[in-house]
Amino acid sequence: MLKQNRDPGKILIIGSGVGGLTAGIILAKLGHSVTIVEKNAGAGGLMRGYRRRGFDCPVGVHYLGSLASGQPLRRLWDYLGVTGNIPLERMGTAGPIDRYIFDDFHFDLPEGLPAFAENLMRAFPGESKQITAVTRQLREVSDSFARLDMLLSPEGVPVSVESFSSMGEHLVRLGCSERLKSVLGVPSTLIGLSLQECPLFYYYLVLSSYLLSSWRLRGDSLRMAEAFVGRFRKLGGQLVVADGVERILTEPGRITGGRLHSGREIDADTIIAAVHPQNITPMLPADVLRSDQAERIDRLENTKGLFVVTLAVDGSAHETLPYNLFRLHPEADGSLARGSFHQIREGSQPGTHLLTMMATSGIEEWHPWERTRSGQRGEDYEQEKRNRAGAFIAEATALFGPLKGKQIVDIYTPLTIRDWVGSPGGSAYGIRRSSSQLMKTAFLSRPALKGLFFAGQNILAPGIMGTTLGAFQVIRRIIGQERFSREVLEELR
Ligand SMILES: Cc1cc2nc3c(=O)[nH]c(=O)nc-3n(C[C@H](O)[C@H](O)[C@H](O)COP(=O)(O)OP(=O)(O)OC[C@H]3O[C@@H](n4cnc5c(N)ncnc54)[C@H](O)[C@@H]3O)c2cc1C
Repeated sequence: MLKQNRDPGKILIIGSGVGGLTAGIILAKLGHSVTIVEKNAGAGGLMRGYRRRGFDCPVGVHYLGSLASGQPLRRLWDYLGVTGNIPLERMGTAGPIDRYIFDDFHFDLPEGLPAFAENLMRAFPGESKQITAVTRQLREVSDSFARLDMLLSPEGVPVSVESFSSMGEHLVRLGCSERLKSVLGVPSTLIGLSLQECPLFYYYLVLSSYLLSSWRLRGDSLRMAEAFVGRFRKLGGQLVVADGVERILTEPGRITGGRLHSGREIDADTIIAAVHPQNITPMLPADVLRSDQAERIDRLENTKGLFVVTLAVDGSAHETLPYNLFRLHPEADGSLARGSFHQIREGSQPGTHLLTMMATSGIEEWHPWERTRSGQRGEDYEQEKRNRAGAFIAEATALFGPLKGKQIVDIYTPLTIRDWVGSPGGSAYGIRRSSSQLMKTAFLSRPALKGLFFAGQNILAPGIMGTTLGAFQVIRRIIGQERFSREVLEELR
């Protein structure tokens, strides 16, 4: 057992995604000596956008929830001191946040739980009992989430066994129609799960976060990563880029540091692994982890990857869309195995808009190129990407009409995600937090070895919100509840 209030000593954080940088900023604010090591030349992981053909393309931040003044993510960002440097625009102020388009109807997801309940009642007048049951539970989770109970309440969040059960099964028990199930199915896809796999608690948490208020980045999508990096450096944090951690150094029973690909060694008393835990086991000397611990990590199943197409279109011929559009093709039972996400925002070049389209894609679909690296996969891979992009473009044309001035800016696959951030199998949202796997992930919140903690999207929940909350939780574990309350929560309240 770790003693409360132990001094973490020198801290090394592996990975500069939102999880690593959030943990780094909190610890630097608390006066600790922190070094973040990032394997890529640019810090930020999935929150970092990139430039292609002069266009600015987002990766892992298409929209964000609960950033209005006083709302959970905003309070956490205010505590970190990054809010003012991240340009945002609010969605859903004059219409929906999301529009779900099915073959024969569409449903608008508005801001606010009352408006959501009203839209559901209007669309499904015969299912008021079911809708009331769902929105009652949603309100409970949403109220607790809005108060940030997860961090602030001494009791934490009362999580019942039922809240880990499947949302899909819950809706079947309530007697929801297939059509209502398909409308309610979308939020679980935002963390890479089907409704059937998605635990009630996670479902309501994701939906609450976006219903409170939804936002997207305005302008340059590198700014978010830069805001986090700038803040971390300003607080005295050290950032090493373009040199990943290759080995975790240990003495019997404890951490002593990390060795980087360049051979450089960094001493540390505490390591926060803000990368996938499956990347950490090979970094440890044999026999440091108990064999059952290592096996448990290896056996964890991950969410699938995403296939993403970014297109530039003529800005004078196409309006930007102030909401996201989901084109959905439900199965007979209402499940959403197939569907695509579309977002049209202002492009970074004058007179253009950017249309981003994405859909779930397993790495097995890219099997012939699995052993290749980004930029070296050959013309057949490029051709396959273009072929698949063709289907997306056809779908977008059916939605928006002929795409004037269209120009493919970039196409990426789960292999790209795998190589960019080291996510096993190109997984977009890391470990599946499914009802059947949830209990098997609980051990990740305890130190794997004295001084070794996990953080990042794999520790509590994925998405910017889930990863940020997870980073605060890991700091609580490292510095102990008493100090966390006194030095972090006091300022957050
Ligand atoms: C295409 C896509 C779209 C998404 N859209 C949204 C969205 O709209 N809204 C939302 O909330 N969430 C979205 N997400 C999810 C969200 O981006 C992630 O949950 C979150 O960014 C994960 O942060 P992280 O810090 O855990 O991991 P990462 O961002 O993956 O960071 C891990 C970092 O560790 C580095 N690293 C790996 N191995 C090493 C090593 N050995 N040494 C040093 N560094 C290493 C990686 O290079 C990377 O920089 C999306 C994800 C994807 C893939």
